[in-house]
Amino acid sequence: MENKEAKEIILTGDRPTGPLHLGHYVGSLKNRVLLQDKPGHTSYIMIADQQALTDNADNPKKVVENVIEVALDYMACGLDPKKSTIFIQSQIPALPELTVYYLNLVTVNRLKRNPTVKAEIQQKAFGQSIPTGFFVYPISQAADITAFKASLVPVGDDQRPMLEQTREIVHSFNQIYGKGKDILTMPDILLAKEGQGRIPGIDGNAKMSKSLGNAIYLKDSMDVVKKKVMSMYTDPNHIRVEDPGQIEGNMVFTYLDIFAEGDPLVAEMKEHYQRGGLGDVKVKRYLIDILDSVLTPIREKRLALAKDPAAVLEMLKVGSERARKTADATLQEVRQAIGVNYFG
Ligand code: ATP
Ligand code: MG
Repeated sequence: MENKEAKEIILTGDRPTGPLHLGHYVGSLKNRVLLQDKPGHTSYIMIADQQALTDNADNPKKVVENVIEVALDYMACGLDPKKSTIFIQSQIPALPELTVYYLNLVTVNRLKRNPTVKAEIQQKAFGQSIPTGFFVYPISQAADITAFKASLVPVGDDQRPMLEQTREIVHSFNQIYGKGKDILTMPDILLAKEGQGRIPGIDGNAKMSKSLGNAIYLKDSMDVVKKKVMSMYTDPNHIRVEDPGQIEGNMVFTYLDIFAEGDPLVAEMKEHYQRGGLGDVKVKRYLIDILDSVLTPIREKRLALAKDPAAVLEMLKVGSERARKTADATLQEVRQAIGVNYFG
């Protein structure tokens, strides 16, 4: 019997708008590292510089410089260029061409309904001046996913509406141009473990994000991590140590639930905190220790890799060449299905 588990193509990516943070690690990177080792699985990991430019058009330097940062974070977390194809979006010309064909399959009203795009437009305070490229980025994401015939997309919870949009495009495309054949592959979302699909920010905002300045970065030194944890949003009404404190919405406990899952000491601390008599600083110190054990090996590996940026760039070049071939092959199939392959 065919084992579906044994044959998956994975595509994910990150915007090079800053180094990667704990949200990326828990929400998506951990899954990617596991998947690259599964037999029969093919992984494509994209650094989405074109997508990052959609809301950073006036600051290309930031995007370009962060490409290498993201690549370093990938490898520091265990993504291995021998197992996964790591590439840069702008180096794959098939992607914008696919986007052009897909743009015609989505209405403006449908895009306006995308809850993640809606929230991001508000957050970025675009007002009436939304860049067109930003508005249509869910369509370019459909191009990224389908170009590699991805069947599985391991992402954070904020990407759910994007996957839904891609699935609609795949469905429309196959219906209109497929003549009974599936030209494009229908992708499935792979979310992180329950409760870990959207890591909140240290400020209590629902999402840790590079753009919100509320992140703990994988490259942060322990001193910086300590400062960030000490500034974390806890229970504003927990003023004196003896006051009973709230653990719901308290970021320190939220993070402990994620990073020290099942730790009996955390369960004990929760009870003590709610009863009163346990100060924030003590709980924060415990979280710092836990984060130290997660982040220090990553940071050390990253520092070693950062000594040879030319090797990282070469790795990205090789990956981009490989990715370009795959995407070109899909593009030929798409052109043929539409009928715009005039010269064979
Ligand atoms: P930006 O603010 O520039 O949009 P970001 O922090 O949202 O940056 P992205 O590059 O947009 O990061 O996201 C890359 C991947 O990481 C996506 O799969 C996304 O779902 C996941 N991700 C990002 N932030 C979080 C988070 N706080 N919790 C879980 N997953 C996250
Ligand atoms: Mg984002």
